[in-house]
Amino acid sequence: MARRIFVAGNWKMHKGPAQADALATALKAALVDVVTVDVAVAPPSISIPAVSARLKHTGVHVAAQNLHQAVGGAFTGELAGEMLRESGCSYVIVGHSERRHVFGEDDATINAKVHAAFRAGLLPILCVGETLDQRQSGNAESVVTGQLASGLAGLAADQVASVTVAYEPVWAIGTGHTATPAQAQSMHATIREWLAGNFPAFVARQLRIQYGGSVKPHNAASLLSQPDIDGALVGGASLDAESFVSIIKAGAN
Ligand code: PEP
Repeated sequence: MARRIFVAGNWKMHKGPAQADALATALKAALVDVVTVDVAVAPPSISIPAVSARLKHTGVHVAAQNLHQAVGGAFTGELAGEMLRESGCSYVIVGHSERRHVFGEDDATINAKVHAAFRAGLLPILCVGETLDQRQSGNAESVVTGQLASGLAGLAADQVASVTVAYEPVWAIGTGHTATPAQAQSMHATIREWLAGNFPAFVARQLRIQYGGSVKPHNAASLLSQPDIDGALVGGASLDAESFVSIIKAGAN
């Protein structure tokens, strides 16, 4: 059975509540007829309630961009998964390269956050991806499989099957340098092979692998038509309803 395409938009630190509500309103109208693709948007935390209210009953999921691993406590500025769930999120992005490289999140923290997501009833979108140096030195595959091994450690097989892995080469994020469909497919195949070698067979069959890194309306169809690319995690192009919807529709074909 083919996996359903899953396209998620990461709004990063863009769009406060009023602007986020306007974008959600535009998406709600434009996606009314799109029923064959799973869609999520990840607004900044402060805009989650407005976007959740606007997208209620539309089938468009709301994702958080990050969570703290604790249930609660003295963690100034942080949010627990349970709070995000209560605010309407069903997914949470974990280990985005900006969290890894700008905020210094290590593999152990990312693994704790993946477990915290399940504890709170959120489905994690676990980001993995190599830097340009790591690719040029021939280590891209070992970096990515290492991030998978640590990110997924300690989960039950049925939990792993419900994770979305987002392969996001760091050199392609926000740079306009997209991986070619062949480069992306090759890493996605490696990820699926690694899953097949480490979990029962249903996991590799079910788990969805998104590609992320400068996905735009003009390159979405060629990426999404690759056999192991099950969706996209979209940054810049998700900030505009027209371009995001055009990427989603490329997955519906
Ligand atoms: C991202 O932030 O996850 C991303 C892929 O960004 P962009 O599409 O802008 O490269």
